[in-house]
Amino acid sequence: MMLGPMVQSLPTIRLAGRIDENTPLVVPRDGFCLDMTEVRGISSRGIGRLVKLLTSASGAPVEIRGLPDPLVPLIPRVTQLGEAFRGARVHSMMLHADCPTCGHSLARECSPLGPTPACGSCEECGSPMRCGVSPEIFEAFARWYRQDPIPPPPGGAKG
Ligand SMILES: [Zn+2]
Repeated sequence: MMLGPMVQSLPTIRLAGRIDENTPLVVPRDGFCLDMTEVRGISSRGIGRLVKLLTSASGAPVEIRGLPDPLVPLIPRVTQLGEAFRGARVHSMMLHADCPTCGHSLARECSPLGPTPACGSCEECGSPMRCGVSPEIFEAFARWYRQDPIPPPPGGAKG
């Protein structure tokens, strides 16, 4: 089982706003939970820093909460990113939607394994919402995620 309750004992690294070359990345040695629910954007250098953060965990447990939707199409396609995320447990992703008519926007936390989220109608004006991630991209990520076996989190047995 790849999803489930998060390991509460892991220290949380909370990233917010825009991830770029100035984002401080301090890595706890015994693993961490990376909370990205408040991330609003990622520059290409920010992606490089994320890769560095994840690879520096080198085998320690890593959980991801609120994977930002700009990363969802990239992880299955960009080898370096895919490798960096391979060992992480993705607890949830943040999917954004906006209304092309009135500009209302929302963000929703959902499972990386589906079902494919529906963006529905705008709660302000009733127009169909525009999803930040298409169903095709969401499915491609879910396929990538399922094909990569993820080891179960260590059950408190630490060496
Ligand atoms: Zn609207």
